[in-house]
Amino acid sequence: MTPSRTMVFTTAEGFEQLSQEPRAVLTGCPWHDVKAMLRDVGLRPTRQRMALGWMLFGKGDRHLTAEMLYEEATKAKVSVSLATVYNTLHQFTEVGLLRQVAVNGSKSYFDTNASQHHHFFIEGENSLLDIPDRDVVVGKTPIPPAGYEIARVDVVVRLRRKSG
Ligand SMILES: [Zn+2]
Repeated sequence: MTPSRTMVFTTAEGFEQLSQEPRAVLTGCPWHDVKAMLRDVGLRPTRQRMALGWMLFGKGDRHLTAEMLYEEATKAKVSVSLATVYNTLHQFTEVGLLRQVAVNGSKSYFDTNASQHHHFFIEGENSLLDIPDRDVVVGKTPIPPAGYEIARVDVVVRLRRKSG
């Protein structure tokens, strides 16, 4: 399931307009798509989920931390707490709309492309990039201990700028 790849959103003219007049845009395509997407996965399209979903999925494939999305929401004058952003991101992840990529103990990125792929993480710049599909990362999958199966393999290849 790759909802983020198949959905096409028109570039919206700024969220402020949408948040002030939600009724006027409910018939608009992007808003409608987010609503349908939430319904499809069994999440009630609350205002906050709609707003965050619209920001997340309206701009193509993205890698965002909760803090980044919170900042975006604040700039767009969407009234939402950081805790709600966290909860919403985790709910979206649980239903498969997002994929969580843990970069270190305290930092997680949420990927709007939930399909299987791996990442480069640029240390110091805190940015996460997709590794192109043609570059195979995992050669031989290890045999899991008895009684376990591999759920998925996440590879994060850490990069730093070459010195000199
Ligand atoms: Zn990715």
